[in-house]
Amino acid sequence: MTQSRRDMALQAIAAFKERPLGHFIGGADVPGEGALFEVSEPATGEILGQTRDATAAEVDAAVGAAKAAFPAWAATPGDQRRKLLHKMADIIQARADEIAAVECLDAGQCWRFMSKAAERGAENFRFFADRAPMANDGQSLPTATHLNYTLRQPIGPVAVITPWNTPFMLSTWKIAPALAAGCTVVHKPAEWSPYSARLLVEIAAEAGLPPGVFNAVNGLGETTGKRLTEHRDIKAIAFVGESKTGSAIMRQGSETLKRVHFELGGKNPVIVFEDADLDRAVDAAVFMIYSLNGQRCTSSSRLLVQRSIHDAFIEKVAARVRNLKVGDPFDPATEVGPLIHQRHLDKVASYMDVARADGARIAVGGCRMDRPGLFFEPTLFVEAEQTMRIAREEIFGPVLTAIAFDDEADAIAKANDVEYGLAGYLWTNDLGRAIRVSNALEAGMVWVNSENVRHLPTPFGGTKASGIGRDGGDWSFDFYMETKNVALATGQHKIQRLGV
Ligand code: NAD
Repeated sequence: MTQSRRDMALQAIAAFKERPLGHFIGGADVPGEGALFEVSEPATGEILGQTRDATAAEVDAAVGAAKAAFPAWAATPGDQRRKLLHKMADIIQARADEIAAVECLDAGQCWRFMSKAAERGAENFRFFADRAPMANDGQSLPTATHLNYTLRQPIGPVAVITPWNTPFMLSTWKIAPALAAGCTVVHKPAEWSPYSARLLVEIAAEAGLPPGVFNAVNGLGETTGKRLTEHRDIKAIAFVGESKTGSAIMRQGSETLKRVHFELGGKNPVIVFEDADLDRAVDAAVFMIYSLNGQRCTSSSRLLVQRSIHDAFIEKVAARVRNLKVGDPFDPATEVGPLIHQRHLDKVASYMDVARADGARIAVGGCRMDRPGLFFEPTLFVEAEQTMRIAREEIFGPVLTAIAFDDEADAIAKANDVEYGLAGYLWTNDLGRAIRVSNALEAGMVWVNSENVRHLPTPFGGTKASGIGRDGGDWSFDFYMETKNVALATGQHKIQRLGV
């Protein structure tokens, strides 16, 4: 079964074993002429194929195709866009196993999570498809002399730049609302995991999206990504990735005054008070950091535990971490897979020395695993302080930093004492405390007595270095659309007469 899933993934990308993966521009495959780079399988180290870095001319062509397709797509009735996007969702659903298998192959994510992630990609399309007919709706804001009404119009061709951690699901989250709003899209997936984005291209073509509405260019961030974000005809950039890349993109887009939407890094606290349901808190804390190989923006990478229960709680967590099933991502029993790339593994591994140097103790894990592939032991740092780098920097691996706190004020101070502000998790059975701490947390999203459970109508996004803007519900349309106000005089209101 495990092998057959891997075969399914290899079959899905078989064409790109023979020839490099190029681009999809104006409804056609473009082999590309740019530099070649390799894509490898994190679980085995095997080279899966080669990809082309898009040249400046190829980026121009992709943006040109998106620009040419924009007027007709923007003018397409919302109901028709709705039907096409539902068709895409149907095909995603039909190919969900294949998509999930490809994510296991090039991103090293585990089947048990990816099988659901592919379904969520379809849900993202359905959710925004259903809102397409209302996307242009505005408000009526009348005065005594004027009828003001607002309407929303798609902003134009947009760039969507995505990371490698859950490539398919994350990209649909951006691409679906952009298309539903009437924007055309140029997508640049992450260079380490480009294949599921290729499946999305095939799905869009099969669904009958008009040529140029959805384009994809492959390549490196510093070349293809940079060109795209500097391009005059790209009107907005939806970016998911590291905070420092967000800063670079803001600089790159500043000359052409790009609108940006950033979903960036996190160092999210899970705060466990002594009155909480501790068994459920253990489940959630372990799930939120070790699922997705710890490569999750909303991971609960800092475990803040009230001192009175600290040792007992940490003991329970440590027992779970020791017991995690690490291995073949295609095996549905596997809970933790490999890290994405040697460079990323080196980064995660480097924090072991940082932890020791700062005076923390490695209670569980701490080493690369002695087996082929980029596997790192699930790791738990204890006796840590909020001042340490392991408590402040995003490690983005299966690594949890545990810190003790004394009381509510101490918990809030420690939780907020980071550059980031994406998510916060809070465990308490005291309602007043739940409300007080939720209000005080510097984070875009707070979950109380819960792990990250996403509901698409709610706003998703971060504060501080974790992002700009919100996804979900109508917030997505606010980003991909311009709001226009039209003021009509209802009668003969007084107009100042100059030069009479
Ligand atoms: P990254 O910033 O290195 O790369 C993300 C994308 O940006 C890739 O496609 C890359 O090629 C491109 N890129 C890199 N430099 C660029 C440049 N100068 N101009 C244009 N594009 C450029 O991020 P990553 O390592 O792929 O992903 C991990 C990061 O993503 C983590 O920090 C994680 O927290 C974050 N993330 C955030 C969210 C969220 O919702 N907040 C979700 C998932 C991941």
